[in-house]
Amino acid sequence: MKTLFQKIADREIPSKIVFEDDLCFAIEDINPQAPTHILVIPKRVITRLGGATDDDAALLGHLLVCAGKIARERGIAETGFRAVINSGKDAGETVPHLHVHILGGRPLAWPPG
Ligand code: 5GP
Repeated sequence: MKTLFQKIADREIPSKIVFEDDLCFAIEDINPQAPTHILVIPKRVITRLGGATDDDAALLGHLLVCAGKIARERGIAETGFRAVINSGKDAGETVPHLHVHILGGRPLAWPPG
């Protein structure tokens, strides 16, 4: 069974894909929580950070590098942005296919809720 994000990557579910390379892709979040809210998603499924292994190290690093590049392209690297991975129920994870939220374009409260 494909995950929601695999279906988006395969263009079976429409989404605004703003970046793509061999390893990952990025989409506009359907329910944005900030003026910029983009999800960076690996093409190979890692279910959640809490289950990641050493084999995932390079891919996880790649996701973060891409998040930084996208933030720079969006003009939020200067003002500041947050990269968030929700892992598991208490964190509010709703899609079991790891993804990095890029949030920016407004001041972000800390600590998060
Ligand atoms: P999580 O709660 O797992 O950390 O994040 C899942 C994110 O995926 C949420 O921010 C939610 O708005 C977003 N999302 C869920 N379904 C879709 C969809 O069909 N398209 C897009 N672009 N985003 C989605």
